[in-house]
Amino acid sequence: MNQAVGTIGMMGGEGDDPTDAAWESIRAGLRRDCGARTFDNWLKPARLAGFDEEGGTVRIALPSEFMANWVETHYSERLLHAWRAHLPQVRRVVVLTGAEVQKPTLFAIEPAGTVEAAVDEIQAEAVGGVEGIQLEGRYTFETFVTGKPNEVAYNAARTVAEGGALTFNPLFLHGGTGLGKTHLMHAMGHEYRRRHPRSKIVYMSAEKFMFEFVGALRAKNTHGFKQRLRSADLLMIDDVQFIAGKDSTQEEFFHTMNEIISAGKRLVISADRSPQDLEGIESRILSRLSWGLVADVNPADFELRLNIIARKLEAMPQVQVPQDVQLFLAKRIASNVRELEGALNRVIAYAMLSNRPIDVAFVEETLTDVLRAHQRRITIDEIQRKVSDHYRIRQSEMTSARRAREVARPRQIAMYLAKQLTPRSLPEIGRRFGGRDHTTVIHAVRQIEKLRKADAELDADVRLLLRQLEA
Ligand code: ADP
Ligand code: MG
Repeated sequence: MNQAVGTIGMMGGEGDDPTDAAWESIRAGLRRDCGARTFDNWLKPARLAGFDEEGGTVRIALPSEFMANWVETHYSERLLHAWRAHLPQVRRVVVLTGAEVQKPTLFAIEPAGTVEAAVDEIQAEAVGGVEGIQLEGRYTFETFVTGKPNEVAYNAARTVAEGGALTFNPLFLHGGTGLGKTHLMHAMGHEYRRRHPRSKIVYMSAEKFMFEFVGALRAKNTHGFKQRLRSADLLMIDDVQFIAGKDSTQEEFFHTMNEIISAGKRLVISADRSPQDLEGIESRILSRLSWGLVADVNPADFELRLNIIARKLEAMPQVQVPQDVQLFLAKRIASNVRELEGALNRVIAYAMLSNRPIDVAFVEETLTDVLRAHQRRITIDEIQRKVSDHYRIRQSEMTSARRAREVARPRQIAMYLAKQLTPRSLPEIGRRFGGRDHTTVIHAVRQIEKLRKADAELDADVRLLLRQLEA
């Protein structure tokens, strides 16, 4: 990634430059949207450091690494959208530290959540016979913290990356968002590259796969596209759920998979859900996936969250974050690692700027909105997943019309939990369970309330599910 930033200040002084005009208008918009206080604290000091027309990259600089990191975490997506609205040729926004504008910030240089979109640029030009790729530098095996929830995925990833004989192919990694799938894929890229410097590695989001394929179709030049992918020694396609329902892309994807596998090359695919829950993906692709190793990346448990915090802090020895604060964060931000990282970064940034020591009271004050959001962040999808796992049925039964007891009862339990744990209305819950009527939901809720009193086993199940979902 760390591409040289050679155009800083390029448009300095040129008031009529369209990028300057866009930036002024974007700033005004941000001030309106975010409120004067947030704007003055965080966004006002941001300045436009450059625009690289060829790569469509806008560079925004902030005075400190912490501020850069905060803006990156909270505003990069919004910045990107705003830029695109003004100048469609903008493809990414890079947040830099002003003091060392030559280098991207320590944490991340790409819009949060769309790291993949930006990082998966494949540099086509060959470097000494090796095709280069852009991988996020900090996503390595060394910086990936392992624990029970992710060790199978981690070990599988290492096995593929080490390049020895493979007993499985493809590797299919699945798990919810922000749990480290992309991190693992990039780590594989780094490691495989280290061990096989002359090999060709291709990492691409499925979204990009689709856009490029469709572009190639339009340009009547699918040959180049096919060649590029099929000549990879290690091919990684991230977030494959994206091509659900996209038929011609899936067709191409299927052939790519086949070619890579039958040539004995390595294939790694990720998705945000398991093969059986990947609706809208052709069954021949799914069956190919399940020939390989299917490894899930589970949500980080408390211990892993604590270890991740500790590891991040090791890299910032100048920052003092007491143990009780670490425990507090690990306990309260349980949704995913990305949010945990974001919360930690925000606390540190605020403390630096306000010159205050970090204690629990300070964290509660700084993260009020995040913490509040986390108290009600249980989703219907999560409930459906958890309940189907618990009863070992397919998640699709949650929305199916089947009335057999073994699926109907878990479905009712899930509706009951959705009523208890989310702010969703009855009609809304009904809709999310395969378009059922709200009276069906009422019936389910009453039924489970009654059964909880009469059936100890069912009651224990519900308690367990409640506990797990609220954890
Ligand atoms: P996904 O692709 O599953 O949505 P990412 O790989 O983008 O998730 O991870 C989100 C963020 O959390 C990244 O910054 C990543 O480095 C971090 N992260 C996730 N899991 C771990 C882990 N086990 N150890 C260290 N960092 C992690
Ligand atoms: Mg990802």
